[in-house]
Amino acid sequence: MKDEIRKVPFECRACWHVWEEEYLVRQVEGRDGEIWLRGGVQVPPPSAAEICPRCGCHQTVQFPDGYLAHHPELIPRPAEPDSTPLVSPAPRRLPGWRRNRW
Ligand SMILES: [Zn+2]
Repeated sequence: MKDEIRKVPFECRACWHVWEEEYLVRQVEGRDGEIWLRGGVQVPPPSAAEICPRCGCHQTVQFPDGYLAHHPELIPRPAEPDSTPLVSPAPRRLPGWRRNRW
């Protein structure tokens, strides 16, 4: 018995979202050959019936193993933090500066 982690890339045909699902593939002798697990739960092998996590669409395309490693531009990157300090356009006022003036 041998376990292997496989990352399977998918693309949604509705919203063009690209994502990867990580599977644990267990090689089993004498049976179908492979058992696919995701999060410790046995699942059917990945197929085009995968559901898009963004829009819930069932029309997805499955890429070959390792496809995204050759196309890193497809992987959405987390947004870089904006280093520009946030400055309010309103002038700064001390709390209660108008009070006690009457
Ligand atoms: Zn989608």
